[in-house]
Amino acid sequence: MSSLRQAELPAGGAKAQNGVRLFWFRRDLRLADNRAFSACLKQAKAQGQTVEAVYVHDVVGAGPAAPGAAARCYLHFSLIDLQARLAALGIPLHLRVGDNLGEIESLCNARGVAAVYWNRLPEPHGLAGDVALIKRLTALDIRVHPHEQGTLWVPDSVRKPDGGRYRVFTPFARQARAQLMLLDTQAELCPVPPPMGTGFSAPDTAIDALGLLDGRAWPHKLMRYWNPGESAAQARLSHFVATGLAAYAEGREFPALDGSSRLSAALHWGEINPWRIVHTLQPALHGAEATLGAERFLTELLWREFAHHLLTAAPDSVSRSLHGGYEALWQSNPEALDRWQRGETGLALVDAGMRELWETGWMHNRVRMVVASFLTKNIGVHWREGAAWFWDTLVDADLASNTMGWQWVAGCGVDAAPYFRVFNPDVQAERFDPQGAYIRRWLGNRPRPPAMLDLKQSRLAALARYQALAAHH
Ligand SMILES: Cc1cc2nc3c(=O)[nH]c(=O)nc-3n(C[C@H](O)[C@H](O)[C@H](O)COP(=O)(O)OP(=O)(O)OC[C@H]3O[C@@H](n4cnc5c(N)ncnc54)[C@H](O)[C@@H]3O)c2cc1C
Repeated sequence: MSSLRQAELPAGGAKAQNGVRLFWFRRDLRLADNRAFSACLKQAKAQGQTVEAVYVHDVVGAGPAAPGAAARCYLHFSLIDLQARLAALGIPLHLRVGDNLGEIESLCNARGVAAVYWNRLPEPHGLAGDVALIKRLTALDIRVHPHEQGTLWVPDSVRKPDGGRYRVFTPFARQARAQLMLLDTQAELCPVPPPMGTGFSAPDTAIDALGLLDGRAWPHKLMRYWNPGESAAQARLSHFVATGLAAYAEGREFPALDGSSRLSAALHWGEINPWRIVHTLQPALHGAEATLGAERFLTELLWREFAHHLLTAAPDSVSRSLHGGYEALWQSNPEALDRWQRGETGLALVDAGMRELWETGWMHNRVRMVVASFLTKNIGVHWREGAAWFWDTLVDADLASNTMGWQWVAGCGVDAAPYFRVFNPDVQAERFDPQGAYIRRWLGNRPRPPAMLDLKQSRLAALARYQALAAHH
């Protein structure tokens, strides 16, 4: 990662010469293009040491980023893939439930660990935990190697020429693109390291012990649509570049088409490095092969970067509107929220989207905007309620992108669509699902309930609420 803030803090002493090197997997569930992992193996080989790995399910430490039900299920299967791939390299993946610091410290003691490597999470919420861990391990004479990954840039490092933070996407993207032009994308990547060739000690815990599946049948059902793991993510990227990229600029708009990459969960869990994607795009971005699709796809990847940039600047935006004056806009309405969640609003595109979400753990981006607008504007329920439902049901639930997406649609974020933009689900369906294929796919031909509200009137009521508050702020 460029702008890497990489600490290689000294410890010295006997442990550093003899012990195990521990790699702590977080949201970087891959072996390729994982420079911290490669460095760990390389340094262990050079010292004649062994490598072991760990994943810690730390719900408390993760704070608002603790995964919801659908994401936990995805994680379960991604860890199975990772454990098998590590075993082939001769590396056990230990699994722990508890707080990061306590679990890593106890593993270090039990296994005689001399050095710990990890990739930091891009969200600001875990930073204090990382700092405490660094202090503790250093005090124990254990060497620490925290790296940065997950986003193309450390979220705070793309800055205005005057050093300030961006609050609007377009200039942020312009600056990010200028930085990209100067970078050798190949330099950000690395192959899967060769096997360790040492005695393999089996991991001491089974994945089920993490309790990620919590006994419910529903998240299991989602996995019919997903194939978690590193190789599947790479295959998905190759498939998309070969079949979807050229037409992406248009294709991404139509929910009935398989027009987007569906890489969001893989990106969230770090099954693929975003630099791998940008590197793969290079021929389609430059020269004779350049396509509009590749340009547009890069822009979407930059939206992801921007979401992290915003979250780092305002960590409490996960629960507080960035435009604080709008907090009084919404009212609790449990019955309407329930109908929205079940896909029984009577508005076909909204209901189709909510059914797609419940059935697959994913929803098309355009439909995400439509259902979010309907909840926050036509119904008038707080965006936090919708974001919480998405958080539990999306396999790609991501704190930065979900928060930005909801605040953008609700018109209370920094780079908000103007509040008077209220998506009309029927008009959106006419434009983006003209044959009704998407709606039929998720709603079938069964009778539909009547619309729960009048679109025109509820739009006017929403505008009146926004206008009244805007006048005061
Ligand atoms: C209300 C709302 C909530 C959302 N919640 C999430 C979320 O929890 N997690 C999530 O990853 N995305 C979220 N998005 C953004 C977007 O809908 C998804 O990233 C996209 O639909 C994923 O499908 P894809 O991988 O096929 O995307 P593609 O169109 O193939 O885009 C490629 C990648 O770019 C990134 N990307 C694309 N659009 C956006 C965007 N608008 N904002 C940020 N990153 C983007 C994603 O990482 C995506 O995988 C949300 C959008 C809205 C409107």
